[in-house]
Amino acid sequence: EKNSDSGLLSHLNEAQRAAVAFCDGPSLVIAGAGSGKTRVLTYKIAYLLEQGLPPYYILALTFTNKAAREMKSRIADLVGEKRARRLWMGTFHSIFARILRSEAEAIGFQSNFTIFDSSDSNNLVRLIIKEMELDDKQYRPGVVHGQISRAKNSLITPAMYAANTEIIQYDRMAKRPQLFEIYQRYQSRLRSGNSMDFDDLLMYTNILFRDHKEVLEKYRNQFQYILVDEYQDTNFAQHLIVKQLADAHHRVCVVGDDAQSIYSFRGANIDNILKFKSNFPGTQIFKLEQNYRSTRNIVNAANSLIKKNSEQIFKNVFSENEEGEKIEIRSAFSDFEEALIVSNKIARMRLEKYAGYNDFAILYRTNAQSRAFEEALRKNNIPYRIYGGLSFYQRKEIKDIISYFRLIVNPNDEEAFRRIINYPTRGIGAVTVAKITSTAQRHNVSLWQVVTAPLEYNLDVNTGTAKKLEGFYSLIQGFIDKNETMNAFELAQEIIKNSGIAKEAYDDMTPEGMSRAQNMQELLNAMNEFVETQQEQGEENIRLADFLSEVSLLTDQDTDNEADNERVTLMTVHSAKGLEFDHVFVVGLEEDLFPSAMAKSEIRGLEEERRLFYVAITRAKKSCTITYAKSRFRNGQTNPATPSRFLKDIDSSYIEGGENDFITRTAPADDFWGSMREQRLQNTMSNHTITPKRVVPVQRVASSTPLSKEAQELEVGHIIEHERFGRGVVTSIEMSGNDRRAFVEFESAGKKQLLLKFAKFSIV
Ligand code: ATP
Ligand code: MG
Repeated sequence: EKNSDSGLLSHLNEAQRAAVAFCDGPSLVIAGAGSGKTRVLTYKIAYLLEQGLPPYYILALTFTNKAAREMKSRIADLVGEKRARRLWMGTFHSIFARILRSEAEAIGFQSNFTIFDSSDSNNLVRLIIKEMELDDKQYRPGVVHGQISRAKNSLITPAMYAANTEIIQYDRMAKRPQLFEIYQRYQSRLRSGNSMDFDDLLMYTNILFRDHKEVLEKYRNQFQYILVDEYQDTNFAQHLIVKQLADAHHRVCVVGDDAQSIYSFRGANIDNILKFKSNFPGTQIFKLEQNYRSTRNIVNAANSLIKKNSEQIFKNVFSENEEGEKIEIRSAFSDFEEALIVSNKIARMRLEKYAGYNDFAILYRTNAQSRAFEEALRKNNIPYRIYGGLSFYQRKEIKDIISYFRLIVNPNDEEAFRRIINYPTRGIGAVTVAKITSTAQRHNVSLWQVVTAPLEYNLDVNTGTAKKLEGFYSLIQGFIDKNETMNAFELAQEIIKNSGIAKEAYDDMTPEGMSRAQNMQELLNAMNEFVETQQEQGEENIRLADFLSEVSLLTDQDTDNEADNERVTLMTVHSAKGLEFDHVFVVGLEEDLFPSAMAKSEIRGLEEERRLFYVAITRAKKSCTITYAKSRFRNGQTNPATPSRFLKDIDSSYIEGGENDFITRTAPADDFWGSMREQRLQNTMSNHTITPKRVVPVQRVASSTPLSKEAQELEVGHIIEHERFGRGVVTSIEMSGNDRRAFVEFESAGKKQLLLKFAKFSIV
């Protein structure tokens, strides 16, 4: 029967069973992709619950919130909803944010602290660079923030940073000698705004546990069993948290795969796995070798690839599934054609294999690659869902509203204050904000505090401005008061209405304005749903703060609020970690893209890129298609591209037509589109000018004719993107009278004449 121990364990193979049943000491499950590591964790938690361990004694750390939710619901299926409910399960960031809120005082914060996402952090860094009058080319905000982030993840505080001669030396060499000061200012600004960035959540947890033994003791006693998924991608700060919590009882089980370590750029340290045994003496190591996910062909292909890495723990991963199809490698003339190939193949496979759209995933190296695929899928009427990139909560109109929420919950939040002090426009300009900022710094208070008592702080503004500031103050203070009694949804409605946001959005009848209004409505719907679900679970008084702590910790994978599952998934390889799909397309296998240009400069970087490719391939259950383009539009121009070196790393016996040299294979000669593009490409490459068959010689048009720059530059052979007709190639250009006219062959709309004076298009 389902609920007995033997029932649980019967869903596992022998090695998995052994790993689940071992509960007496530290254990490490190290195994290849698809071998059931996550399954072992899931069953182990169910097993512990069956053994009588109360759920709130179990701490389980996953890589995304979504993974945690899925694991929880799986456990609920195994042992019942009631027992699964009170598990402590989530990402490192969300679990420790929760703990930091209840212990905030101990580290000098208030429990309503704001969590900065990476764009908030970058904004603050940028602002500080500006205030220090440093050159933002030398101190690029993203780079500076990356450096600060690495320091934090290695638990290097600003003081330690400034005292570390090695780091200071390095910064000097990198021509960023002031970095330590930026870090210091950044950190104190966060603190005075009662805010933390993502990295702080881990750093302050460590500081909390280090400096407050009684707090550490409390959580040590609570978390009787600690489990961590994807351990290969934990960083030093995360490792130390696990170590501190598990040090007393050693009941800790971590699972991971060194071959899938792909976050070293964020400070993840593969040593955490390699040294686990020495950190926890007596560790039992379990190896799982059977892959249950993929066909034999996919497993073998992935094995042959990862073998090319010099650094790895030997694993013999095998599959007893059917052999399956070989991997198909397809070349395209351009990124645009690559997207067409993929979307056509999805449309075809769906019919041939009776597959649903949700069985397909397109995985790319960088978010920027998604655009071409979105376009091609839309043209093919294929529904898709895209993860990452600019997620819903990152959109400007949503972030602006969220900034109101943030300021109401935590009025000292500087970033939120700056975003909305003059949104919607209320005549409070940059000069006034600068005055508020310097006044705040002089008195060592927050911007909000200055606005609450401008006279007390001698804020130097004229009476008109003072009035406007007062208006802003009473608007926000009114919301703060209402936040005592109103639930999150009700208050959000009130804010959107009374702040003037609604009026501004609904007055704007442009398509962009309408889509903004729709997004705001969607936010309200999401909040309503949030409040209702919380109430169903017996929670009362659902405030803005509750909603904020939910949304501020969403990861790329979590921003999926569409119930409708019939969609193709588009995501980066990084965010596909741990997931599986029947049919996977790994796209953009080109030098300088995958592997990325940055990674190529060092061997370690190259091996990490190869692991990333390994992660991509091993997401596939039944089929895997790999594509690359020979030219790619990047950073505003089309450049030639060469196939990735990784393609040669896969043993050719697992590749369709592998006996031939697939990389030099070209498209069929009758491929008009391909050859047009190819011709253009070759022309750009050899730097020859095109010799188009012009109908009349093209003259430079007199400046009096109102032609756009694009229209003036247009030549035969150019590929254009037209507002209505989509992509097309210019077959001829004519002058008739004063008008210039282009004849264009569009891919879907067929042949059209465009009067260049009016036509809306861009040259691709
Ligand atoms: P990754 O390294 O990609 O995270 P993993 O090692 O965590 O993979 P799982 O996701 O746990 O692997 O398992 C892969 C697939 O194989 C899942 O669909 C899982 O349900 C299935 N599976 C694992 N073990 C078994 C088993 N003993 N019997 C049947 N199916 C299994
Ligand atoms: Mg897994």
